[in-house]
Amino acid sequence: MMSEKISLRNRFIQTILRSDKEMTYYFDSHIHLSDPAYLPDINYILNGMNHLKLKACCVSMDVENSLQTLDLAKKNNSVLPFIGIHPECANDDLEKMIKLIEDNHAILSGIGEIGLDPTYVSKTDDAKRQAHVFETLLSVAEKYNKPVSIHSRKSLDDVFEIMTSYDTKHALLHWFDGSKKQLQKAMDMGFFVSYGPVTIYANDKQTLLSKTDESKILVETDGPVRFSRCFEMKSGQIALSQV
Ligand SMILES: [Zn+2]
Repeated sequence: MMSEKISLRNRFIQTILRSDKEMTYYFDSHIHLSDPAYLPDINYILNGMNHLKLKACCVSMDVENSLQTLDLAKKNNSVLPFIGIHPECANDDLEKMIKLIEDNHAILSGIGEIGLDPTYVSKTDDAKRQAHVFETLLSVAEKYNKPVSIHSRKSLDDVFEIMTSYDTKHALLHWFDGSKKQLQKAMDMGFFVSYGPVTIYANDKQTLLSKTDESKILVETDGPVRFSRCFEMKSGQIALSQV
């Protein structure tokens, strides 16, 4: 039973392990390393990652940012490229994104960041467009058998509804922010979840964490998002605590 659980966890990062079977790496399951905020320090960050044996699922926002992610991944094999259209960027060119995935599927680690978020919706058409982009990219991910990194802020129930038609075994609900009931549903449906650095100081997140199936927990920074308290509003970095 235990080995079954471990193998499922590894399957989410199956492409990650491909090249480095004998080394133990730590993984950041969701970080925007191709965000311009990292640009001035990117070589320092990548070197640090190599030294500390860290790898990162580098998620993207839109077509332009996905190209930057692909560039970064070509330069450094610690960067595991996830490309896609974030719900904030749902008006981006979906056809172009599909083509980009098709052209690069052999080197892609996954699809993301994709999902739903009513924060970025001001009219009914926006919600429809977001759902259309999300579902289209889920279909493409399934076609190429790629893991997906899902943004589900204030939209978990809608994401659950949509995901009943898609593969959830290799899907991550990044920055899980639901209720205990929604967590149970996520576990029942077979999702991975990650909580991020706030878990260090947020009691509600710690409670959720304690109720999460251990084999379904991944860690993430969601960098360059900044966190308060002990993190002093520094930009999230994959190796911040070790460097
Ligand atoms: Zn993100």
